Amino acid sequence: MAEKKRSLITIRDLVKAYGDFTVLHGIDLDIAEGEVVCVVGPSGSGKSTLIRCINRLEDFSENSTIEIDGLTVQRGPELAQVRAEVGMVFQNFNLFPHMSVVRNVMLAPMRVRKTPETKAREQALKLLDRVGIVAQADKYPSKLSGGQQQRVAIARALAMEPRVMLFDEPTSALDPEMVGEVLDVMRDLAGTGVTMIVVTHEMGFARQVADRVIFMDGGRIIEAGTPAEIFDTPKEERTRGFLRAVL
Ligand code: ADP
Ligand code: MG
Repeated sequence: MAEKKRSLITIRDLVKAYGDFTVLHGIDLDIAEGEVVCVVGPSGSGKSTLIRCINRLEDFSENSTIEIDGLTVQRGPELAQVRAEVGMVFQNFNLFPHMSVVRNVMLAPMRVRKTPETKAREQALKLLDRVGIVAQADKYPSKLSGGQQQRVAIARALAMEPRVMLFDEPTSALDPEMVGEVLDVMRDLAGTGVTMIVVTHEMGFARQVADRVIFMDGGRIIEAGTPAEIFDTPKEERTRGFLRAVL
């Protein structure tokens, strides 16, 4: 990053437990506007839980705080506003199966932002064009490949013009030949200055696209740094062990 940008997301002492089992042990994290952060780590280390807390898909400890652009992420009337600012892309696309592709993308702007239908359609088609899939606009999701469906899911999240995009292993459910087309769309997005937090096992993507890589294990951030710092000169033994296993 050319200049130090202000913090868009501030996470302080994020603690999350399921009963007696603590999943996140007090995470502190600041994400700058325009920053692309990749979160890596073994299965069960709390990566999904961390990003699901950011738009409060998961509840967390009362003493923890998360702020997005000055808005506190807590239950209450502000939560809908927070969620409108946060786009989320899941492993399994989660498109609405009974709606055409373009309708999937139009839905939230019409419902939440009260965008008129003609305008919503026009914007949706632009976004579908941006993710290379406008020719499929009037098809149903089930007629599309996994890679195409995931690109629709990205367009749908972008339709709300979110301040930040969260991705939870967006390519893990895809056949290998479709991974590239989704990563290409994400790489383009990163290039346009969208703030992104990406949980991924795609180390090549993380190395190439991330401003910062965070390694998590056992519900803690073990190490964070530039891709070169994490991949070439990791400081922590746990990071080295993980990288040996996956690279
Ligand atoms: P990751 O995304 O890194 O694989 P998760 O955030 O999904 O890890 O999970 C972290 C830990 O929390 C795991 O040990 C998992 O078993 C546990 N966990 C996740 N969801 C629940 C739940 N609903 N109830 C109990 N434990 C859960
Ligand atoms: Mg996960």
